[in-house]
Amino acid sequence: MQRNRYFVWTVGCQMNVSDSERLESALQGVGYTPAEQAEDADFIVLNSCSVRANAEEKIIGKITDIQRIKRERPDTKIVLWGCMVGPNNQSIFKKKLPMVDHFVSPSAVDEVLALAPNPIYQLDEPALPVADWEVPPVNVHVPINYGCNMSCAYCVIPLRRGKERSRPMAEIADEVRRICARGAKEITLLGQIVDSYGHDLPGRPDLADLLEHIHDTPGLVRLRFLTSHPAFMSEKLLHAIARLPKVMPDINLPIQAGDDQLLKVMKRGYTVAKYTKLIERIREIVPNVSLSTDIIVGHPGETREMFERTLEMVENLRFDKVHIAAYSSRPGTKAGEMELDPALAVEHGEKQYRRIALERLQERIITERNEELLGHDVEVLVEEFTKGKWRGRDRNNKLVFFEAEGNWYGKVVNIHVTETRPWWLGGDLVGEALAVGAV
Ligand code: SF4
Repeated sequence: MQRNRYFVWTVGCQMNVSDSERLESALQGVGYTPAEQAEDADFIVLNSCSVRANAEEKIIGKITDIQRIKRERPDTKIVLWGCMVGPNNQSIFKKKLPMVDHFVSPSAVDEVLALAPNPIYQLDEPALPVADWEVPPVNVHVPINYGCNMSCAYCVIPLRRGKERSRPMAEIADEVRRICARGAKEITLLGQIVDSYGHDLPGRPDLADLLEHIHDTPGLVRLRFLTSHPAFMSEKLLHAIARLPKVMPDINLPIQAGDDQLLKVMKRGYTVAKYTKLIERIREIVPNVSLSTDIIVGHPGETREMFERTLEMVENLRFDKVHIAAYSSRPGTKAGEMELDPALAVEHGEKQYRRIALERLQERIITERNEELLGHDVEVLVEEFTKGKWRGRDRNNKLVFFEAEGNWYGKVVNIHVTETRPWWLGGDLVGEALAVGAV
C-alpha cells in the first residue's frame, strides 16, 4: 500500500465541508494523497456533526465500520473531529471509542494536520479550502467567524464550537484573493451568525465593511453569505447588499417558529412582529431579494395552536425556501431537559405530521413563486455538467438546468425560463451575460 494516504469523511453543515476541504488541501500540501476508501488510508479523519441525533448515529456507525482497519493495521491513525467533540465529553468518548486515536474540536484544522504521521513537506502558507486544484471550483466557502455567543434552547453549537471568534479582514481578503486567482468565481462567506462578524475585532468592522473590502477582488464574480441571525441584520448591511453588484440578493434568515411564546422558550430574542418588520424592510431595500428561513417543528412545548401560527406566518411571508427540521433532542441543552417532561415533549408521529404539513404548504408557495419566472430571463453561474445538462444557480440561488453545446463551466449566462418546478427551473440558453467581475 502506498504511504501517506488520507481519507476524510464529512457529515454536517457547510462549515464542516469547508473545514474538511481546508484540511484536505493542507494534507496535500504536506505530501499526502487522497485514498478512495478508508481501507487504503493510513490517516483517517471523521469530521462529525451533533446538531441532530441521526448525524451522531451516522458517525458512530462509520467508526464501528472502520474499527476492523485498526485491528488489521494498528498503525493507521484515526481522528474524530468536529462538533461531536466538546470540551466535556472527550473522556467519555475515549472509553466508548477506543479505536479512535485523537479527538479534535471543530474547525481546528492545524491541530488535525499536526497529527498526520510522516509529513513530507512543511506548509509555507495557510492552506486554502479546496483540495483539488486541477479543476478550479466555481463556488468556494470561506469561514469568516467561528462559534456562537447566543444560547438558543435547542442548540448544541455554542457548547461545541465555543464563543464567537472573527477572522481578521486582511486574512480573509488574502484568502479570497488567492482562491479567485486559482479560478473560483463565487465566494460564500460562512459563520454560525455571519452577520455578527467583526464585533470582537479591533475597530469593530462589520459584515458590510468586509463585503465592501473584498468586493473588487480580481476574478470574483459573486459573493454570498450564510447564516444570518435576525438580531444582527443591520440597515447598513442591507444597503451594502443593494449597492454592491457582486453581492447576491439572497438571504437566509432563520425564524425557527411562528409563535411568540415558543420563540421566547427557544430564546431567539425576537417576536414574529419584529421579524416580519425586518422582512418587509429587507424587501424594500434589496430589490428582487430571495429569502429563505429555517423552522423547527415539534420543539418541546410547541402545541398544535402554536404550530398553526407557524403555518400562518409562512403563508404570510412567502419565503423562497424553508429548511424544515423535526426537533431532535440534544443532551446538555435547555430543550433537551424539557423533552424529558412528557407534558412538553411532542410525540414522533405529531412531529412528522407537522413537518409534512409545513413541507406541503411551502411546496405550494414556491411552486406559485417560481411560476412567476416563466418567460423571464435569469442570470446563471454555471457550476456543473451532469446527465447531459448544464446546471447552475441564478442570483437568488435557485437551481437552473439547460442544455447547450460547448463548454459553459464557470461562465455567467442568461437563461430564458421555459419550465418551473418547486426546487428547480429549466430553460434555454440566451447567451453569455455581461457579469461584473467575469473578466
Ligand atoms: S444562533 Fe442559536 S441556533 Fe444559531 S448557532 Fe447560535 S445558538 Fe445555535
